[in-house]
Amino acid sequence: MTVTGPKDINQMGLTFEHEHIATDFIGAEKVKQPQYPLSQGTAFFLTHLMKLKDSGVQTLIECTPEYIGRDVKLLRELSEQSGVNILTNTGYYAAVDKKYLPKHTFSETAEQLAARWIDEWENGINGTDIKPGFIKLGVGKKSLDSIEQKIVRAGALAHLNTGLKIAIHTGSSVAANDELDILEEVGVDACALIVVHAQNASSEEQIKLIKRGCWISLDGVNQKPGTIARYIDFLLALKQENLLGQVLISHDDGWSVIQKEDGTIGFELFNFGNLSPYSSILELLIPRLNVLGFTQEDIDQLLIKNPAKAFMIEVCERGVKAKR
Ligand SMILES: [Zn+2]
Repeated sequence: MTVTGPKDINQMGLTFEHEHIATDFIGAEKVKQPQYPLSQGTAFFLTHLMKLKDSGVQTLIECTPEYIGRDVKLLRELSEQSGVNILTNTGYYAAVDKKYLPKHTFSETAEQLAARWIDEWENGINGTDIKPGFIKLGVGKKSLDSIEQKIVRAGALAHLNTGLKIAIHTGSSVAANDELDILEEVGVDACALIVVHAQNASSEEQIKLIKRGCWISLDGVNQKPGTIARYIDFLLALKQENLLGQVLISHDDGWSVIQKEDGTIGFELFNFGNLSPYSSILELLIPRLNVLGFTQEDIDQLLIKNPAKAFMIEVCERGVKAKR
């Protein structure tokens, strides 16, 4: 499900599965978002989307949740003007001291939260007819606390109702295993779960997570010294175990909304190690993987086949054989 409507998964093509466009880290319910007019956002981001399209990327999965700047009208405008498919999301982000959670998260039940997300799937987001393409949640590094457990449970319930897959910003493998336990309790198969930021786990932990049935997302590919080598080590270990079929890769690039010195609003590239956004995978990582014996089939698996399967709308019930 893209911001311009449903598409066949075969139309996804080369996909970056965890990226951002505009994010706003001011905090939930502090100011009305977006803080910039649609025309300003479109003018700023369109050149980057056109460049992405020229590099051969057909789909960008935008992982900015509501209350951290999700701007579906901007995404639709950019998708229509650039021709890049864009997916947006529903769900809440409980990492970083709950700064990005709206107040009702604390008082409502998992069922009530799930109902809000199901409503976006059924009726559209913020008064538009734009629907989410997946559920995006966020949790911290420790074993999940009661609020985190509640949003993961809400995500699982919303999944069973909608078939939207659940991508969770996850701080550690301890937290990831807690997520899998909750899904199990609710009756959701692990193939509905994408463990985001699995690069924070060791190779051994990544392999254990995959063996529990989920997807892992290694999504911080960047130009910083040592990063590419680290991702290559992860991918070599996963290839050796024949587990590339459950691995996703991306950059986690994007821009923060900032207030400039003159009081106007602008956008600043994340400082995660990429000076030029959305480019390190194709320019740095893939050429190295080719030299190390990764076949074109392996690369297509990581960038085309896996994202299509991972983000396909399908209900993954426990006990029902997954289509992987
Ligand atoms: Zn991200």
